[in-house]
Amino acid sequence: MTIKDFVKTRKEELKVEFAKFKSVSKFVIVQMNEDPASEAYIRGKLKDGSELGVNVELRKFPLDFSHENLLNEIDKLNKDDSVTGFIVQMPLPKQIDEESVKLAISPKKDVDGFHPLSKLNPCTPQGIMNYLDHEHIDLLGKNAVVIGRSNIVGKPMAKLLLSRSANVTVLHSKTSFADMHRYLENADIIVVAVGKKHLIDDKFKFKKDAVIIDVGINRDEDGLKGDCINNLPVKLQTPVPGGVGLLTRLALYENLLKICKGEN
Ligand code: NAP
Repeated sequence: MTIKDFVKTRKEELKVEFAKFKSVSKFVIVQMNEDPASEAYIRGKLKDGSELGVNVELRKFPLDFSHENLLNEIDKLNKDDSVTGFIVQMPLPKQIDEESVKLAISPKKDVDGFHPLSKLNPCTPQGIMNYLDHEHIDLLGKNAVVIGRSNIVGKPMAKLLLSRSANVTVLHSKTSFADMHRYLENADIIVVAVGKKHLIDDKFKFKKDAVIIDVGINRDEDGLKGDCINNLPVKLQTPVPGGVGLLTRLALYENLLKICKGEN
């Protein structure tokens, strides 16, 4: 099933689930940037919320808001019983320490799953796992290669794949080109989360039944491009746009639903 169809079907189910939690399902998005990419992500999250019947509120703060003021607002959200969960949209201005913001959000309300004590997983890797499961991609004992080791994508992705008994290798900017070729050639599942347009191209060899998950979002004059060129000779490759971005948005509401159900 395509990602678009998978997301559409799952949204119908989520809508039914959220209807059971009307009185508690208030979701707040905190914005403190004027970043065009963030604006687009927030528009998407608001649209999803309205389709799912979730009460979503956008709280915007000025760019010169101090670190202390933002932490105060987070504290208010943590204590506000009418708020089921919230996220702080990244990036944040220079005067704000993003890591301490992630730590300030109560794990009980952390829809992004960024807090180290949160039982929820960050949305991009969780969304990818949900799709791999839906497609019945076998992970046990399979060679999984994750390119990128960020705290929000690469590392939690590797952890989730390892938790499902894949043989996980994490590559990064210090990995040699020759080694990258060697690892990819033997990989069954490849997750590319780098942010470099078309880093992975047809100079690489792949197993013909490999699965490639392209997380990268790179903007050029023609629109959005992935970290991989299109149509690599594998069994399944996720597109950009219309791929992991949609899975991430869906996983955000899956996390919110888990909070509504007290599963976090
Ligand atoms: P990030 O924090 O910048 O991390 C990038 C990672 O790529 C780093 O670990 C870096 O290695 C590694 N890297 C850089 N150049 C490399 C190279 N030539 N070969 C191998 N590895 C290399 O980025 P991120 O937040 O993880 O995001 C990655 C991409 O995914 C971006 O394009 C972002 O926009 C996109 N993204 C998409 C979604 C979605 O929903 N679709 C969600 C999140 C992110 P070092 O650690 O050695 O520096």
